[in-house]
Amino acid sequence: MSELPGIVVVGVSGRMGRMLVHEVLASDRVHLAGAVEREGHEWIGKDLGEALGGAPLGTRVSDDPLEVFARAQAVLDFTTPEASVGFAALAAQARLVHVIGTTGMDRSQLARIDAAARHAVIVRAGNMSLGVNLLSRLTRLAAETLDADYDIEIVEAHHNQKVDAPSGTALMLGEAAAAGRGLALDSVSERGRDGITGARRRGDIGFASVRGGDIVGEHEVMFIGQGERIVLRHVATDRRLFARGALKAALWGLDRKPGAYDMNDVLGLGAAG
Ligand code: NAD
Repeated sequence: MSELPGIVVVGVSGRMGRMLVHEVLASDRVHLAGAVEREGHEWIGKDLGEALGGAPLGTRVSDDPLEVFARAQAVLDFTTPEASVGFAALAAQARLVHVIGTTGMDRSQLARIDAAARHAVIVRAGNMSLGVNLLSRLTRLAAETLDADYDIEIVEAHHNQKVDAPSGTALMLGEAAAAGRGLALDSVSERGRDGITGARRRGDIGFASVRGGDIVGEHEVMFIGQGERIVLRHVATDRRLFARGALKAALWGLDRKPGAYDMNDVLGLGAAG
């Protein structure tokens, strides 16, 4: 049996799940301790390597997370909000590091994740890349520096299979911008303009979403003044970026006390925006 920390990937057949498996297998610092998919999925009971179209790996895809978690130290989870809430409770029972990349959670789901973080190390971030987390810091700085004469608009673009909008990253950037102005995002957020909306309200933070093709993820934060515009932009071109960040978060979490953390903690970027 490997002495290296064991990592479970949940949602292994998903776009991110496959990336996470590749990242774990390529790492010499961890071993793949298990693979989980939802009940009824066609991969259940199959060898993961064969399900992925390659050589057998000796790991069967399971729909019993509790049994799999018992053999691991950390879980990488990019699935759905309800699934992630369930996995957080199981991670708390098994005292694991739970890295959550899933986006689109509502308040009650976030509260349940926080409750689980009393017993598990939970690292949750709408975006696991260093670049975006740095962009968030820069957004906060720009919002602190520029007053409401500068309208803040956040535009994001993603592939045509994405189910939530605005993206978790766009909301994270919105929170950073609002925090820079000493406000809560909820009080200034303007989402989904349509029809006769009236003029833009001073101080609002606007969101717009583009969906199409295979776009991995693009985010632009605009500070639009009179006669000038500052644009902060991040473009992700490869999902491996997020998988690498998630694995880094899992390794970082192994030495921490239970609690709720984000990528600012992992990357040493200081308190979240
Ligand atoms: P996807 O639909 O391709 O994959 C989701 C997988 O989760 C599917 O295979 C599905 O069967 C599985 N799943 C659903 N319920 C499950 C359950 N109860 N148990 C086990 N598996 C279950 O989606 P995706 O593009 O991989 O994205 C997944 C999530 O990750 C989304 O919320 C997305 O926004 C987010 N995401 C976050 C980042 C980041 O850096 N934080 C980056 C990319 C995507």
